[in-house]
Amino acid sequence: MSDYVNKLMTQVTAKNPGEPEYHQAVHEVAQSVELALARNPRFVQAKVFERIVEPERVIIFRVPWVDDHGEVQINRGFRVEMCSSIGPYKGGLRFHPNVYLGMLKFLAFEQVFKNSLTTLPLGAGKGGADFDPKGRSEGEVMRFCQSFMTELQRHIGQFTDVPAGDMGVGGREIGFLFGQYKRIRNEFTGVLTGKGLSWGGSLIRPEATGYGAVYFAEEMLKTRDESLEGKTCLVSGSGNVALYTVERLLDLGAKPVTLSDSGGCVIDKDGIDREKLSWVMDLKNVRRGRIMEYAERFEGSEFIPVDPSKSYNPLWAVDAQCAFPSATHNEISDDDAANLLAGGVYVVSEGANMPTVPAGVDRFLAAGVLYGPGKAANAGGVAVSGLEMSQNAERRSWTRETVDERLHAIMVAIHENCRQTAEEYGVAGNYVHGANIAGFRKVADAMLDHGIV
Ligand code: NAP
Repeated sequence: MSDYVNKLMTQVTAKNPGEPEYHQAVHEVAQSVELALARNPRFVQAKVFERIVEPERVIIFRVPWVDDHGEVQINRGFRVEMCSSIGPYKGGLRFHPNVYLGMLKFLAFEQVFKNSLTTLPLGAGKGGADFDPKGRSEGEVMRFCQSFMTELQRHIGQFTDVPAGDMGVGGREIGFLFGQYKRIRNEFTGVLTGKGLSWGGSLIRPEATGYGAVYFAEEMLKTRDESLEGKTCLVSGSGNVALYTVERLLDLGAKPVTLSDSGGCVIDKDGIDREKLSWVMDLKNVRRGRIMEYAERFEGSEFIPVDPSKSYNPLWAVDAQCAFPSATHNEISDDDAANLLAGGVYVVSEGANMPTVPAGVDRFLAAGVLYGPGKAANAGGVAVSGLEMSQNAERRSWTRETVDERLHAIMVAIHENCRQTAEEYGVAGNYVHGANIAGFRKVADAMLDHGIV
């Protein structure tokens, strides 16, 4: 570790105790940013990076609600408003029992660079609650969302902070949150993205993150004159990102063979085709079931439950060429990274945020595989959220083709920006440095223009 990174990390760790995911995210970006600082003393003088690691504002609030048995429940709600240098705060809301401040700070921090890369004027934020929607009735989810928004509405707005969905927050939750915002504020504005199509949503928003991760993989492959056609692909998760990744992979002639959830993974060597995918969409979005049911339904597939005593996930040990981690942070351990390489994987496009542990990232980089880090590869979701904001401002809805074309163009531009920046800094092929430096430079320039704020 260099002196600069060492000193910065000592300060960040001391000021943010007990937040390992946040330390991990800052450490990775600091190693890249150092290269940019060496070329621009003004960034150093103005302590631009030291300011970025301190959130502009953090809001923590009580979320009381009553469950179906009449019992009072109390959750904790958060919104981390990280950086507004290039636009209003923008980033998702996560409802999951393991949500705490450190996790949302890591996600909001990643969002700074990701949003900058999208080419759109988007600042960065992230929020959520330690609420678990799993097993809750529709009425309980609605009452929770209403209570959450009753407080959050004071802090957000179409020109200040525009949340979206993330894990545990899909179309249903955005609907309840929007309804309560509209009711309290008496205004119909684009304060949230991921809205329903009949009330201001954008076509392709649900698909955007998964499609974008596939487009990013395609661009990486093009640098080697290859395509996704015929490639065997490993996909983890079975939520929003994973399922639309599978859909686009099928469109492009690839063969996805895995899915998972927190209970375990399914391996289907015959391939997950359109019929099977549509069954999983219904299982997850309508029946809200578990992925283990897949193996009961489709002959020839296998379900392997999670084994906490193992240091690896069998999903990543299947022979393939491409991997699309689309479940959660740190899901690819060092052993998983080794298994992926041993199984022939040479393209990794991260749909999830920070899904690979640092030792795994080092392995991918040392092996020279095409490794697209989450903040670049999964930026398609927030990019289409940005396009949803543009459509709301215009009071128009663009066609599916228009939105998909723009998403594709944005992913091509992000890839090219990362590729070129890496080359410019003497680290050709390293998309980690490319994404971090390109994302940082734009935000840093804006911060210099704004003075010490
Ligand atoms: P989601 O719809 O809630 O799906 C998450 C999936 O991951 C579920 O299948 C879930 O299984 C699984 N999962 C969660 N924790 C797990 C664990 N510890 N082990 C194995 N599987 C686990 O969420 P999503 O929107 O697809 O988000 C997935 C990832 O993409 C997250 O890292 C998110 O931050 C990132 N991302 C999302 C977007 C977006 O537009 N939605 C944009 C950029 C990045 P269970 O149902 O069993 O929990």
